[in-house]
Amino acid sequence: MAKEHNVDRQLFDEVMVPCYAPMQMIPVKGKGSRVWDQDDREYVDFAGGIAVSCLGHCHPVMVNALKEQADKLWHLSNVMTNEPALRLAKLLTEHSFAEKVFFANSGAEANEAALKLARRYAADKFGPEKSEIISFKQGFHGRTFFTVTVGGQAAYSDGFGPKPGDVTHLPYNDLEALASHISDRTCAVMMEPLQGEGGIVSPTPEFIQGVRELCDKHNALLVFDEVQTGNGRTGDFYAYQGLGVTPDILSTAKSLGGGFPIGAMLTTTELAQHMKVGTHGSTYGGNPLACAVAEAVVSEVTKPEVMAGVKQREQWFRDGLAVINAKYPIFAEVRGKGLLLGAALTEEWQGRARDVLLAAGEEGLMILVAGANVVRFTPSLVIDKADIDEGMARLERAIAKIYK
Ligand SMILES: *Cc1c(COP(=O)(O)O)cnc(C)c1O
Repeated sequence: MAKEHNVDRQLFDEVMVPCYAPMQMIPVKGKGSRVWDQDDREYVDFAGGIAVSCLGHCHPVMVNALKEQADKLWHLSNVMTNEPALRLAKLLTEHSFAEKVFFANSGAEANEAALKLARRYAADKFGPEKSEIISFKQGFHGRTFFTVTVGGQAAYSDGFGPKPGDVTHLPYNDLEALASHISDRTCAVMMEPLQGEGGIVSPTPEFIQGVRELCDKHNALLVFDEVQTGNGRTGDFYAYQGLGVTPDILSTAKSLGGGFPIGAMLTTTELAQHMKVGTHGSTYGGNPLACAVAEAVVSEVTKPEVMAGVKQREQWFRDGLAVINAKYPIFAEVRGKGLLLGAALTEEWQGRARDVLLAAGEEGLMILVAGANVVRFTPSLVIDKADIDEGMARLERAIAKIYK
């Protein structure tokens, strides 16, 4: 029998690689948008596990799908296909531009597949010279070495030796900069259609439209990283659908599994044919358990009432934040779309987003930050009005405490 251990926060420091600095409490149970820790303290969840728990915790639709599949079949590998993967792929093609789907286990892996496809396509069709990847400063695309290099924060990619080459970072929302740099050597432009980790920054309509046009002009592929924006988060199933600009490749993860690890790369038949047998793969990608859960999640999220509910909840969040800000003016603006919202701190409060997060934790509210100056909210897409009201009351108490 295993030796008895005190499973407490102290143990983290003893046995875990210290690349995270988790909060003191250890959650043990969740239901909807409420979470309980080891001491049975209850929290309202406005964080949603970083835009993952799109149906809240332990939604019956997800639990049933998982339990049903758990009694049938867990894993095969891609030596065989499986029913849940096929059904989920079909569903994703029905709800997007895509005709073909590649399954992975995370956002970074979905992006890795997207980048490799873009490079392979350009090499096959135009030759080896066409290899430049353009991406944007403050962008985030995951932590594999290729994706973190394409991401726009050198602090995340420095210090690991030579990086994958031919990656250019330009400022987001600066069409001039892109227009003067892009060339026929550009293989792809990768971007978030609303920057998440980088501070909740929406693209201007001119920018997003212009990026598409410049890509077309130079035969460069447009890759949308919808890992954070996807699966209903912005009020459209994918954010591109609300922007009037369609990418050639789209990556999705986070909310796709509602808490079960899964990612996917979506693309067209024309592009997909360049991923011939053997060019890419994954042992777990398209795993039946993950796909069964994701199928249930996508079926639920794409219901018209759920999608409409996101817009309603965005308004409740914006209203709640406005009420707090009227009493304790620490926010300069609330940015973002749907339930991917960022409250940017005023000049006076620069650098204190983490203070707000810690104070909220003490009041029993889970929130997130996006950089040092933005408080981020990515709750369940079906969070109850009562949970929003209670969370806002706790946020107000937290802000009141640090305000004085
Ligand atoms: C979270 C995120 C990723 C990375 O996803 P992982 O599942 O952590 O690998 C990539 N891109 C964006 C936009 C993200 O928000």
